[in-house]
Amino acid sequence: MSRHRIVRAMDYNDEYDGYDDVYGHSVDDDNCISPTDAQWLYDRARGQHSMSAFIKNNKDIEEEEEDVCDDSVTYDKDRRDSDNFQIPKLNDVDQAKLTSCIDEIRNVVGDQVSERRMVETSINFEYDITKILDDILNNECDNKAKRYKQTGVSSSSKRNALQPSTSTASKLTSDRETFSNVQAPPIIKVTAQPLSERSIRRGFEVNSPQPQSSPTVSGRNTPVDEDVNKTLANVKVSKEQAQRDARKLYSQERGELKAHFHMIVIGHVDAGKSTLMGHLLVDTGYVSQRVMHKHEQESKKMGKQSFMYAWVLDETGEERSRGITMDVGYSRIETDTKVVTLLDAPGHKDFIPNMISGATQADVALLVVDASRGEFEAGFEQGGQTREHALLVRSLGVNQLGVVINKLDMVDWSKDRFDEIVGKLKTFLRQAGFKESDVTFIPCSGLSGENLSKPAQEPSLTAWYKGPHLLKVIDNFKLPERSIDRPFRMSVSDIYKGTGSGFCISGRIETGVLSVNDRVLVGASREQAQAKGIQIDEIPQTNSFAGDQVSVTLAGVDMSTVSVGCIICDPQNPIPVTTRFQARILVFNVTVPITIGYPVLLHHQSLIEPAVLSKLHAQLHKSTGEIIKKKPRVLGNNSCALVELKTTRPICIERYAEFKELGRFMLRVGGVTIAAGMVTKIR
Ligand code: GDP
Repeated sequence: MSRHRIVRAMDYNDEYDGYDDVYGHSVDDDNCISPTDAQWLYDRARGQHSMSAFIKNNKDIEEEEEDVCDDSVTYDKDRRDSDNFQIPKLNDVDQAKLTSCIDEIRNVVGDQVSERRMVETSINFEYDITKILDDILNNECDNKAKRYKQTGVSSSSKRNALQPSTSTASKLTSDRETFSNVQAPPIIKVTAQPLSERSIRRGFEVNSPQPQSSPTVSGRNTPVDEDVNKTLANVKVSKEQAQRDARKLYSQERGELKAHFHMIVIGHVDAGKSTLMGHLLVDTGYVSQRVMHKHEQESKKMGKQSFMYAWVLDETGEERSRGITMDVGYSRIETDTKVVTLLDAPGHKDFIPNMISGATQADVALLVVDASRGEFEAGFEQGGQTREHALLVRSLGVNQLGVVINKLDMVDWSKDRFDEIVGKLKTFLRQAGFKESDVTFIPCSGLSGENLSKPAQEPSLTAWYKGPHLLKVIDNFKLPERSIDRPFRMSVSDIYKGTGSGFCISGRIETGVLSVNDRVLVGASREQAQAKGIQIDEIPQTNSFAGDQVSVTLAGVDMSTVSVGCIICDPQNPIPVTTRFQARILVFNVTVPITIGYPVLLHHQSLIEPAVLSKLHAQLHKSTGEIIKKKPRVLGNNSCALVELKTTRPICIERYAEFKELGRFMLRVGGVTIAAGMVTKIR
């Protein structure tokens, strides 16, 4: 037997038939009400259509004195009405409307109106609850007022009257006022005042929805602080923010300071990148002798003394024990005229996504190659990271390159070896899209520190090399243009919980200016947040500009809304959000030719998103861009094409022509970069 029986509709007589076999009968199966009690219960099966009929049929119930009133006739009439009343046959929709009307009426007037009256009025007024209540309350008012005068408001009625529906609240007011006129017992006045009268408080406020101040519900249905979050349409960015003269602000704040840029160090694994950077940091005084001594001792203990400089940048235990860089390390050096943030990218191919994320932040790059015999070749061949890294940084917009021919001590500072490597790299770099004038080759030894921060001393090197040392080459890099007067865009490369309220995001400001308290839109969800604090190298700032690597404390948005790779933008000039866009791609490394539906991983800034090549519009000439073939069926290596890409989730992306910084992307498949692209049209 089901445990969930409808007790109200149950025939207790049937239940207790055969009561003899009570043994072997689970207690749960029985009713917990005695038959004596049951006779007092409402039983639909016995024709007790209403409580009034039930009371009428049970004559032995002693009526309480106060129930006897002048209009008992009316009550009796009501009871009879309900008792004999048959609800007319209605279709399903009308039946449902009627039931909800009756519920609503009962909520307001309790048992004071007969069922017949409720049904008939509901049908007459076509289930319009306002009209129904109006009619019932107005017409019954006099009778009820009299009744109230003698008996007081029934407790159920009082209770219900405290919770009227919004639509009936105003009607109730007038009704209750009428009742007060006839000196009904003091009742709580329920008021639903117009908003304009809100200052005058009369009785209890009705807990009804307030149309003008309903809480903003964000795209993810997260109720958010309405002060901070307004819908996009309601965004009111301060005049000051809108009219800020970005260039002026920049020259005021940064005019006196040395120019600052980001440099990524790339190259095949073990080319000596970390050692070179570590040594440079020690030479330029950014790592104290004390810290260096500690690294020396620790690396000696682990039998890895040759890595002591690399440890300046490789900070994690795993990086140190495996002797490889896994994540992008950040540090700073200062040259005569510039401040440079160094990004030490992992060379290992397993960590290319980290390298791409680092490269998106870089203004210039330093490509390190190992000059020792066999090693340069291993890094330069297919599968080596020298080519892939150079192509990646170029595709991500880096056009100035310093090429460090490292570990020359291993080949006795041989000029021939240097020239051989330079020759091979020059051809390749030209093909990759670097201008010859933007590429400088520097012979070095990261381990011995030769030609790093001071002009070369080694006689075997000075015999043939008269060029600048590495620090000078870095100092000579031309400053990339900062797009300060464009709308604000920042790509998020990390998210973490800060010490105070809100949470922090870090990343690069691609374009525009961000000031403390600015409102911003977050990623594809376009939820609004506020920049509560800005830090550059852990120093609090009021303003930050395009090209800065910043940490921003965000408030007014849920941390789960922000993800690595998403773009934070200006609410007045939001970044396009799309799942479909057209792009020009350059295919460099596919084992299986590209066809329609080819699945790829789209790398855009720090974002990695699955996508498919949904259309192949045309194959283009690599240098002129002319259409060679319309709707090609396949795209092979070294081909250039106009294609359409579709992502599963919406992403923030810009047209390359408008925002170079955010219009470039890479396509990767199975850990290999197969193509680089530029967005031409956003659907
Ligand atoms: P990364 O993977 O490119 O960061 O390379 P590391 O900086 O970790 O260096 C790899 C190995 O090459 C380490 O054992 C270094 O000591 C060694 N190494 C780095 N630079 C030089 C150099 O200029 N000369 C010599 N002989 N060894 C070097």
